[in-house]
Amino acid sequence: MATIIDGKLISQQIQEELTIEVNAIKANGSKLPHLAAVLVGNDGASETYVGAKVKACEKVGFKSTMVRLAADTTEKELLFIIEGLNNDPDIDGYIVQLPLPKHIDEQKIMMAIAPEKDVDGFHPQNVGRMALNLPTYLPATPFGIMQLLERYKIDTVGKYCVVIGRSHIVGSPMSILMARNTNPGNCTVTMCHSKTADLKAFTLKADIIIVALGKPEFLTADMVKDGVVVIDVGITRVASTQTKSGFKLLGDVKYDEVAAKSSFITPVPGGVGPMTIASLLVNTLKSSRKEVYK
Ligand code: NAP
Repeated sequence: MATIIDGKLISQQIQEELTIEVNAIKANGSKLPHLAAVLVGNDGASETYVGAKVKACEKVGFKSTMVRLAADTTEKELLFIIEGLNNDPDIDGYIVQLPLPKHIDEQKIMMAIAPEKDVDGFHPQNVGRMALNLPTYLPATPFGIMQLLERYKIDTVGKYCVVIGRSHIVGSPMSILMARNTNPGNCTVTMCHSKTADLKAFTLKADIIIVALGKPEFLTADMVKDGVVVIDVGITRVASTQTKSGFKLLGDVKYDEVAAKSSFITPVPGGVGPMTIASLLVNTLKSSRKEVYK
């Protein structure tokens, strides 16, 4: 019987730990950690994500600033705002919610964020530091997965790990982190993608599978061996007649049948998803303590 990895619980635990840290900061009379979030336009999903991040800040006692900009904000105007955030000594870290409107070059914006305030960990300088195992801000979702592996004491040393997906935000950093000489880590890693020939030949050998491709119920029981550890990053909204809202969330794993063969598995929802915000808050605290850039 698989142990179900409870991301909601671990995320709450991390937020409780952060609240204790904030209380100590307050007792010292020191400056509170301060996260800013920049939202350009009125995309519904982005509003929800940013809203949840700001709310989580308030819950643990951080300061938060929401910078709302109109959909027709120019690239030049956004770069000006970013320069202001880079130079504001009260802001420890900030995020620019993606996607940005089409007329703005996301790459250019990412490059303009000061690496020491890049709590999303997307700036090439921070990605390079991650690859070199130097102090950095780990990107939120991979950081959250490492926390789950650590807190569930899952043995990763010497294991064979297959990562499905090579995106810059999940698959690629995940493969780097699992191969590093750290704990969790020290795996032998194969990163698979849409051009991988005979994916099943890799997954059948894997001790740990991290699935991040965005195709509901893609990983099936016939693709995994007994005792496998499965981390499901996928979230896809599909229509459902069984829920009030008319939709449900599906992961990239055919949960029931794969769980029956797994030693550990993350559910969707309630697995990896809740960890993302907790990771962002941890990065903000690190930034306020100058733990990454002294
Ligand atoms: P993405 O940028 O679309 O990347 C998907 C990756 O999957 C690509 O590398 C693609 O290969 C690969 N792929 C597609 N079809 C494949 C196949 N048949 N076999 C093997 N590989 C295949 O997606 P993402 O941003 O990484 O997100 C992946 C999923 O995770 C989505 O459902 C997303 O919603 C979810 N997600 C969840 C969280 C969270 O907090 N829980 C955070 C981020 C993302 P190519 O490179 O060859 O195209």
